[in-house]
Amino acid sequence: MLILHASELVTLKGPRRARAKAEMSDLSIVQDGAVAISDGVILDVGKTESILREHNSTGIERIDASGKVVMPGLVDPHTHLVYAGSREFELELKAKGKSYMEILEGGGGILRTVRDTRDSSPQDLFRQSAKRLESMLVHGSTTVEAKSGYGLDKDVEIRMLETIKRLDDEYPVSLVPTYLGAHVVPPEFKGDGDAYVDFMVVEVLPEIARRKLAEFCDVFCEKGIFNVQQSRKLLLAAKGFGMGLKVHADEFSNSGGAQLAAEVGAISADHLGKPSDDGIMAMARRDTIGVLLPGTPFSSMSKDYADGRRLIDLGVPIALGTDLNPNCWNESMQFTISLACHKMRMTPAEAITAATINAAAALGLERKVGSIEQGKRADVIMLDIPTYAHIPYKFGTNQVSLVIKDGRSVWER
Ligand SMILES: [Zn+2]
Repeated sequence: MLILHASELVTLKGPRRARAKAEMSDLSIVQDGAVAISDGVILDVGKTESILREHNSTGIERIDASGKVVMPGLVDPHTHLVYAGSREFELELKAKGKSYMEILEGGGGILRTVRDTRDSSPQDLFRQSAKRLESMLVHGSTTVEAKSGYGLDKDVEIRMLETIKRLDDEYPVSLVPTYLGAHVVPPEFKGDGDAYVDFMVVEVLPEIARRKLAEFCDVFCEKGIFNVQQSRKLLLAAKGFGMGLKVHADEFSNSGGAQLAAEVGAISADHLGKPSDDGIMAMARRDTIGVLLPGTPFSSMSKDYADGRRLIDLGVPIALGTDLNPNCWNESMQFTISLACHKMRMTPAEAITAATINAAAALGLERKVGSIEQGKRADVIMLDIPTYAHIPYKFGTNQVSLVIKDGRSVWER
Protein backbone atom coordinates (compact mmCIF):
# COMPACT_ATOMS: atom_id res chain seq x y z
CA MET A 1 0.00 0.00 0.00
CA LEU A 2 1.19 3.52 -0.81
CA ILE A 3 -0.17 6.66 0.84
CA LEU A 4 0.78 9.59 -1.39
CA HIS A 5 0.79 13.40 -1.47
CA ALA A 6 -0.05 14.10 2.19
CA SER A 7 -0.06 17.88 2.66
CA GLU A 8 1.59 17.13 6.01
CA LEU A 9 3.01 13.73 6.83
CA VAL A 10 3.49 13.99 10.60
CA THR A 11 6.11 11.28 11.24
CA LEU A 12 7.35 12.05 14.80
CA LYS A 13 10.62 10.53 13.68
CA GLY A 14 13.15 10.69 16.49
CA PRO A 15 14.48 8.79 19.48
CA ARG A 16 12.42 5.68 20.34
CA ARG A 17 11.61 6.91 23.84
CA ALA A 18 9.32 9.49 25.42
CA ARG A 19 10.18 13.00 24.24
CA ALA A 20 10.75 15.76 26.79
CA LYS A 21 10.97 19.56 26.80
CA ALA A 22 11.76 21.00 23.31
CA GLU A 23 11.73 17.52 21.75
CA MET A 24 7.96 17.54 22.25
CA SER A 25 7.65 20.38 19.72
CA ASP A 26 9.43 18.51 16.91
CA LEU A 27 6.91 16.55 14.84
CA SER A 28 9.34 15.85 11.97
CA ILE A 29 6.87 16.77 9.23
CA VAL A 30 7.33 15.86 5.56
CA GLN A 31 5.42 18.06 3.12
CA ASP A 32 3.97 16.21 0.11
CA GLY A 33 4.80 13.11 2.14
CA ALA A 34 4.30 9.44 1.35
CA VAL A 35 4.37 6.14 3.23
CA ALA A 36 4.97 2.66 1.82
CA ILE A 37 3.41 -0.19 3.80
CA SER A 38 3.97 -3.91 3.41
CA ASP A 39 2.92 -6.90 5.56
CA GLY A 40 1.48 -4.65 8.25
CA VAL A 41 4.75 -2.80 8.71
CA ILE A 42 6.03 0.60 7.55
CA LEU A 43 8.50 -0.05 4.75
CA ASP A 44 9.52 3.46 3.75
CA VAL A 45 8.74 7.11 4.54
CA GLY A 46 9.63 10.24 2.57
CA LYS A 47 8.66 12.71 -0.14
CA THR A 48 6.06 11.40 -2.58
CA GLU A 49 8.46 11.79 -5.49
CA SER A 50 11.15 9.59 -3.95
CA ILE A 51 8.73 6.97 -2.58
CA LEU A 52 7.17 6.64 -6.06
CA ARG A 53 10.62 6.20 -7.57
CA GLU A 54 11.47 3.37 -5.14
CA HIS A 55 8.15 1.53 -4.89
CA ASN A 56 6.31 2.07 -8.18
CA SER A 57 5.36 -1.46 -9.17
CA THR A 58 1.86 -2.25 -10.47
CA GLY A 59 -0.86 -3.83 -8.38
CA ILE A 60 -0.12 -1.73 -5.30
CA GLU A 61 -3.06 -0.07 -3.55
CA ARG A 62 -2.65 3.71 -3.68
CA ILE A 63 -4.28 6.19 -1.36
CA ASP A 64 -4.35 9.84 -2.36
CA ALA A 65 -3.85 12.05 0.72
CA SER A 66 -3.80 15.37 -1.16
CA GLY A 67 -4.83 18.23 1.10
CA LYS A 68 -4.85 15.96 4.14
CA VAL A 69 -2.77 15.22 7.24
CA VAL A 70 -1.34 11.71 7.66
CA MET A 71 -0.02 10.77 11.11
CA PRO A 72 0.49 7.82 13.45
CA GLY A 73 -2.62 6.16 14.87
CA LEU A 74 -3.48 7.83 18.18
CA VAL A 75 -2.52 6.00 21.36
CA ASP A 76 -4.84 6.33 24.36
CA PRO A 77 -2.78 5.32 27.42
CA HIS A 78 -5.43 5.70 30.16
CA THR A 79 -9.01 4.44 29.86
CA HIS A 80 -11.62 2.68 31.93
CA LEU A 81 -13.16 1.27 28.77
CA VAL A 82 -14.90 -1.73 30.33
CA TYR A 83 -17.94 -0.98 32.49
CA ALA A 84 -21.69 -1.41 32.51
CA GLY A 85 -24.33 1.31 32.69
CA SER A 86 -24.00 5.08 32.63
CA ARG A 87 -24.20 8.00 35.04
CA GLU A 88 -25.68 10.82 32.96
CA PHE A 89 -27.88 11.86 35.93
CA GLU A 90 -24.75 13.01 37.81
CA LEU A 91 -24.33 15.84 35.32
CA GLU A 92 -27.19 17.68 36.99
CA LEU A 93 -25.72 17.07 40.47
CA LYS A 94 -22.38 18.42 39.28
CA ALA A 95 -24.09 21.46 37.74
CA LYS A 96 -25.65 22.12 41.15
CA GLY A 97 -22.18 22.17 42.73
CA LYS A 98 -21.67 18.65 44.11
CA SER A 99 -18.02 17.53 43.97
CA TYR A 100 -16.70 14.15 42.81
CA MET A 101 -15.96 13.14 46.41
CA GLU A 102 -19.44 14.23 47.58
CA ILE A 103 -21.11 12.20 44.83
CA LEU A 104 -18.92 9.19 45.75
CA GLU A 105 -19.70 9.51 49.47
CA GLY A 106 -23.41 9.67 48.61
CA GLY A 107 -23.27 6.20 47.03
CA GLY A 108 -22.85 7.45 43.46
CA GLY A 109 -19.72 7.68 41.42
CA ILE A 110 -17.48 4.63 41.15
CA LEU A 111 -19.56 2.55 43.58
CA ARG A 112 -22.67 2.95 41.43
CA THR A 113 -20.73 1.63 38.41
CA VAL A 114 -19.32 -1.21 40.55
CA ARG A 115 -22.91 -2.31 41.26
CA ASP A 116 -23.90 -2.09 37.58
CA THR A 117 -20.77 -3.94 36.44
CA ARG A 118 -21.12 -6.72 39.01
CA ASP A 119 -24.75 -7.19 37.93
CA SER A 120 -23.98 -7.37 34.20
CA SER A 121 -23.50 -10.61 32.28
CA PRO A 122 -20.12 -11.22 30.56
CA GLN A 123 -21.87 -10.86 27.18
CA ASP A 124 -23.49 -7.56 28.12
CA LEU A 125 -20.25 -6.16 29.53
CA PHE A 126 -18.48 -7.09 26.30
CA ARG A 127 -21.21 -5.62 24.09
CA GLN A 128 -21.37 -2.28 25.94
CA SER A 129 -17.57 -1.93 25.97
CA ALA A 130 -17.21 -2.95 22.30
CA LYS A 131 -19.53 -0.14 21.24
CA ARG A 132 -17.21 2.39 22.89
CA LEU A 133 -14.13 0.77 21.39
CA GLU A 134 -15.60 1.00 17.86
CA SER A 135 -16.18 4.70 18.38
CA MET A 136 -12.61 5.19 19.65
CA LEU A 137 -11.29 3.53 16.49
CA VAL A 138 -13.44 5.78 14.30
CA HIS A 139 -11.88 8.75 16.15
CA GLY A 140 -8.38 7.52 15.29
CA SER A 141 -7.24 5.51 18.33
CA THR A 142 -5.40 2.35 17.23
CA THR A 143 -3.84 1.42 20.60
CA VAL A 144 -5.84 1.72 23.81
CA GLU A 145 -4.99 0.91 27.42
CA ALA A 146 -7.93 -0.43 29.44
CA LYS A 147 -8.24 -0.94 33.18
CA SER A 148 -10.26 -3.19 35.42
CA GLY A 149 -11.54 -1.58 38.62
CA TYR A 150 -15.34 -1.82 38.62
CA GLY A 151 -15.49 -5.37 39.95
CA LEU A 152 -13.13 -5.06 42.93
CA ASP A 153 -13.91 -8.63 43.99
CA LYS A 154 -11.78 -11.32 42.41
CA ASP A 155 -14.31 -12.78 39.94
CA VAL A 156 -15.53 -9.56 38.36
CA GLU A 157 -12.04 -8.01 38.16
CA ILE A 158 -10.95 -11.11 36.26
CA ARG A 159 -14.08 -10.96 34.10
CA MET A 160 -13.18 -7.35 33.19
CA LEU A 161 -9.62 -8.35 32.24
CA GLU A 162 -10.98 -11.27 30.18
CA THR A 163 -13.31 -8.81 28.43
CA ILE A 164 -10.30 -6.63 27.53
CA LYS A 165 -8.54 -9.70 26.13
CA ARG A 166 -11.56 -10.64 24.03
CA LEU A 167 -11.88 -7.06 22.69
CA ASP A 168 -8.20 -7.18 21.72
CA ASP A 169 -8.79 -10.48 19.89
CA GLU A 170 -11.95 -9.43 18.06
CA TYR A 171 -11.37 -5.75 17.17
CA PRO A 172 -8.68 -4.03 15.06
CA VAL A 173 -7.43 -2.02 18.03
CA SER A 174 -4.49 -3.14 20.20
CA LEU A 175 -5.54 -3.22 23.85
CA VAL A 176 -3.18 -3.07 26.82
CA PRO A 177 -4.74 -4.48 30.03
CA THR A 178 -4.17 -2.93 33.48
CA TYR A 179 -5.31 -4.32 36.84
CA LEU A 180 -6.87 -1.51 38.88
CA GLY A 181 -8.39 -3.42 41.79
CA ALA A 182 -7.22 -0.47 43.89
CA HIS A 183 -9.74 1.92 42.31
CA VAL A 184 -11.79 2.36 45.49
CA VAL A 185 -12.26 0.31 48.69
CA PRO A 186 -15.28 -1.98 48.00
CA PRO A 187 -18.32 -1.98 50.32
CA GLU A 188 -17.38 -5.40 51.75
CA PHE A 189 -14.09 -3.89 53.07
CA LYS A 190 -15.60 -0.50 54.04
CA GLY A 191 -13.29 1.37 56.42
CA ASP A 192 -10.52 -1.21 56.14
CA GLY A 193 -8.34 -0.33 53.16
CA ASP A 194 -5.40 -2.26 54.67
CA ALA A 195 -7.38 -5.51 54.63
CA TYR A 196 -8.49 -4.90 51.04
CA VAL A 197 -4.88 -4.29 49.95
CA ASP A 198 -3.91 -7.58 51.64
CA PHE A 199 -6.77 -9.33 49.81
CA MET A 200 -5.50 -8.01 46.44
CA VAL A 201 -1.90 -8.96 47.21
CA VAL A 202 -2.68 -12.46 48.49
CA GLU A 203 -5.81 -13.50 46.54
CA VAL A 204 -6.05 -11.57 43.30
CA LEU A 205 -2.60 -10.51 42.01
CA PRO A 206 -1.10 -14.03 41.96
CA GLU A 207 -4.00 -15.33 39.83
CA ILE A 208 -3.83 -12.38 37.41
CA ALA A 209 -0.06 -12.80 37.10
CA ARG A 210 -0.30 -16.57 36.61
CA ARG A 211 -2.86 -16.14 33.81
CA LYS A 212 -0.99 -13.11 32.35
CA LEU A 213 -4.22 -11.09 32.32
CA ALA A 214 -2.62 -7.67 32.98
CA GLU A 215 0.55 -5.95 31.82
CA PHE A 216 0.28 -3.15 34.39
CA CYS A 217 -0.96 -2.67 37.94
CA ASP A 218 -2.44 0.72 38.84
CA VAL A 219 -3.61 2.28 42.13
CA PHE A 220 -5.75 5.33 42.99
CA CYS A 221 -3.35 7.01 45.43
CA GLU A 222 -5.38 9.88 46.88
CA LYS A 223 -6.41 11.24 50.28
CA GLY A 224 -9.50 9.26 51.34
CA ILE A 225 -8.94 6.44 48.83
CA PHE A 226 -5.58 4.60 49.10
CA ASN A 227 -2.74 6.19 51.04
CA VAL A 228 0.95 6.05 50.06
CA GLN A 229 1.76 3.07 52.31
CA GLN A 230 -1.12 1.00 50.94
CA SER A 231 -0.31 2.01 47.36
CA ARG A 232 3.37 1.19 47.79
CA LYS A 233 2.59 -2.25 49.22
CA LEU A 234 0.37 -3.18 46.29
CA LEU A 235 2.71 -1.77 43.63
CA LEU A 236 5.78 -3.54 45.01
CA ALA A 237 3.86 -6.83 45.13
CA ALA A 238 2.84 -6.34 41.47
CA LYS A 239 6.43 -5.50 40.56
CA GLY A 240 7.46 -8.79 42.15
CA PHE A 241 5.14 -10.53 39.68
CA GLY A 242 6.87 -8.74 36.79
CA MET A 243 4.04 -6.30 36.09
CA GLY A 244 4.65 -2.69 35.03
CA LEU A 245 3.34 0.01 37.36
CA LYS A 246 1.05 3.02 37.02
CA VAL A 247 -0.37 5.43 39.60
CA HIS A 248 -3.50 7.63 39.64
CA ALA A 249 -1.49 10.39 41.33
CA ASP A 250 -2.41 13.65 43.06
CA GLU A 251 -5.65 14.16 41.13
CA PHE A 252 -7.47 16.28 43.75
CA SER A 253 -4.77 17.01 46.33
CA ASN A 254 -1.07 16.51 46.88
CA SER A 255 -1.15 12.95 48.22
CA GLY A 256 2.46 11.93 47.52
CA GLY A 257 1.46 9.98 44.40
CA ALA A 258 3.95 11.55 41.97
CA GLN A 259 6.82 10.91 44.35
CA LEU A 260 5.67 7.33 44.96
CA ALA A 261 5.46 6.68 41.19
CA ALA A 262 9.07 7.84 40.76
CA GLU A 263 10.22 5.90 43.84
CA VAL A 264 8.82 2.52 42.74
CA GLY A 265 9.88 2.97 39.10
CA ALA A 266 6.36 3.32 37.67
CA ILE A 267 6.20 3.88 33.92
CA SER A 268 3.72 6.73 34.46
CA ALA A 269 1.95 8.89 37.04
CA ASP A 270 -1.47 9.91 35.78
CA HIS A 271 -3.77 12.94 36.42
CA LEU A 272 -1.30 15.19 38.34
CA GLY A 273 -3.83 17.90 39.17
CA LYS A 274 -1.94 18.90 42.34
CA PRO A 275 1.51 17.27 42.48
CA SER A 276 4.17 18.61 44.86
CA ASP A 277 7.29 20.27 43.45
CA ASP A 278 9.36 17.43 44.94
CA GLY A 279 7.12 14.93 43.18
CA ILE A 280 7.52 16.71 39.83
CA MET A 281 11.30 16.86 40.18
CA ALA A 282 11.47 13.18 41.17
CA MET A 283 9.46 12.28 38.05
CA ALA A 284 11.72 14.40 35.82
CA ARG A 285 14.82 12.68 37.26
CA ARG A 286 13.44 9.16 36.72
CA ASP A 287 11.79 9.90 33.33
CA THR A 288 8.43 8.92 34.81
CA ILE A 289 5.87 9.90 32.18
CA GLY A 290 3.09 12.24 33.28
CA VAL A 291 -0.19 11.12 31.70
CA LEU A 292 -2.54 14.11 31.71
CA LEU A 293 -6.30 13.63 31.39
CA PRO A 294 -7.96 16.99 30.70
CA GLY A 295 -11.34 15.37 29.99
CA THR A 296 -11.67 14.65 33.70
CA PRO A 297 -11.71 18.21 35.11
CA PHE A 298 -13.82 19.15 32.05
CA SER A 299 -16.50 16.57 32.89
CA SER A 300 -16.20 17.24 36.63
CA MET A 301 -16.81 20.96 36.03
CA SER A 302 -13.56 21.69 37.84
CA LYS A 303 -11.04 24.44 37.13
CA ASP A 304 -8.19 22.26 38.38
CA TYR A 305 -6.51 21.21 35.14
CA ALA A 306 -2.99 19.83 35.41
CA ASP A 307 -0.40 22.47 34.59
CA GLY A 308 0.89 20.85 31.40
CA ARG A 309 2.95 23.87 30.46
CA ARG A 310 4.88 23.84 33.75
CA LEU A 311 5.37 20.05 33.79
CA ILE A 312 6.86 20.14 30.27
CA ASP A 313 9.10 23.09 31.12
CA LEU A 314 10.39 21.23 34.20
CA GLY A 315 11.34 18.23 32.06
CA VAL A 316 8.54 15.70 32.71
CA PRO A 317 7.70 13.82 29.48
CA ILE A 318 3.96 14.30 29.01
CA ALA A 319 1.37 11.99 27.44
CA LEU A 320 -2.37 12.54 27.04
CA GLY A 321 -5.26 10.12 27.61
CA THR A 322 -9.05 10.31 27.45
CA ASP A 323 -9.67 8.76 30.91
CA LEU A 324 -12.84 7.36 29.32
CA ASN A 325 -15.06 6.28 32.23
CA PRO A 326 -18.71 6.73 33.28
CA ASN A 327 -17.86 10.12 34.86
CA CYS A 328 -15.96 11.27 31.77
CA TRP A 329 -17.46 9.59 28.71
CA ASN A 330 -14.77 10.81 26.34
CA GLU A 331 -13.97 8.49 23.44
CA SER A 332 -11.97 11.03 21.44
CA MET A 333 -8.24 11.69 21.64
CA GLN A 334 -8.85 14.57 19.21
CA PHE A 335 -11.05 16.32 21.78
CA THR A 336 -8.45 15.51 24.45
CA ILE A 337 -5.72 17.17 22.34
CA SER A 338 -7.96 20.21 21.98
CA LEU A 339 -8.55 20.41 25.75
CA ALA A 340 -4.80 20.08 26.40
CA CYS A 341 -4.17 23.13 24.23
CA HIS A 342 -7.07 25.23 25.45
CA LYS A 343 -6.94 24.35 29.16
CA MET A 344 -3.37 23.25 29.94
CA ARG A 345 -1.46 25.65 27.69
CA MET A 346 0.19 22.92 25.66
CA THR A 347 1.01 23.78 22.05
CA PRO A 348 -0.61 21.78 19.23
CA ALA A 349 2.73 20.08 18.46
CA GLU A 350 3.31 19.14 22.11
CA ALA A 351 -0.22 17.76 22.41
CA ILE A 352 0.24 15.61 19.29
CA THR A 353 3.55 14.24 20.60
CA ALA A 354 1.73 13.51 23.88
CA ALA A 355 -1.04 11.62 22.05
CA THR A 356 1.28 9.49 19.91
CA ILE A 357 4.92 8.61 20.74
CA ASN A 358 4.76 9.67 24.40
CA ALA A 359 1.47 7.84 24.91
CA ALA A 360 3.07 4.76 23.34
CA ALA A 361 6.00 5.14 25.75
CA ALA A 362 3.55 5.30 28.67
CA LEU A 363 2.57 1.75 27.66
CA GLY A 364 6.10 0.53 26.93
CA LEU A 365 5.31 0.43 23.18
CA GLU A 366 7.58 3.22 21.91
CA ARG A 367 9.55 0.79 19.73
CA LYS A 368 6.42 -0.54 18.01
CA VAL A 369 3.94 2.33 17.55
CA GLY A 370 3.55 6.09 18.03
CA SER A 371 5.54 7.30 15.02
CA ILE A 372 5.70 6.70 11.26
CA GLU A 373 9.15 5.19 10.84
CA GLN A 374 10.59 2.26 8.98
CA GLY A 375 9.97 -1.02 10.77
CA LYS A 376 7.16 0.21 12.99
CA ARG A 377 3.67 -1.27 12.97
CA ALA A 378 1.62 0.35 10.16
CA ASP A 379 -0.95 2.09 12.39
CA VAL A 380 -1.68 5.24 10.40
CA ILE A 381 -4.56 7.70 10.23
CA MET A 382 -5.57 10.28 7.64
CA LEU A 383 -7.40 13.46 8.65
CA ASP A 384 -9.39 15.74 6.38
CA ILE A 385 -7.53 18.90 7.44
CA PRO A 386 -4.60 20.68 5.75
CA THR A 387 -2.34 21.07 8.81
CA TYR A 388 -1.99 19.34 12.19
CA ALA A 389 -2.86 22.54 14.06
CA HIS A 390 -6.46 22.05 12.87
CA ILE A 391 -6.81 19.08 15.26
CA PRO A 392 -7.05 21.18 18.46
CA TYR A 393 -8.39 24.20 16.57
CA LYS A 394 -11.48 22.50 15.09
CA PHE A 395 -12.86 20.81 18.18
CA GLY A 396 -16.04 18.83 18.72
CA THR A 397 -16.14 17.01 15.38
CA ASN A 398 -14.24 14.03 14.00
CA GLN A 399 -11.51 15.00 11.50
CA VAL A 400 -10.38 11.41 10.82
CA SER A 401 -11.29 10.09 7.37
CA LEU A 402 -9.26 6.85 7.23
CA VAL A 403 -7.85 4.45 9.83
CA ILE A 404 -5.18 1.92 8.88
CA LYS A 405 -4.37 -0.72 11.50
CA ASP A 406 -1.50 -3.16 10.97
CA GLY A 407 -1.39 -2.14 7.32
CA ARG A 408 -5.10 -2.77 6.68
CA SER A 409 -7.70 -0.12 6.04
CA VAL A 410 -10.23 -0.75 8.85
CA TRP A 411 -12.44 2.34 8.66
CA GLU A 412 -13.04 5.14 6.20
CA ARG A 413 -15.61 7.70 5.19
ZN1 LIG B 1 -8.44 6.85 35.55
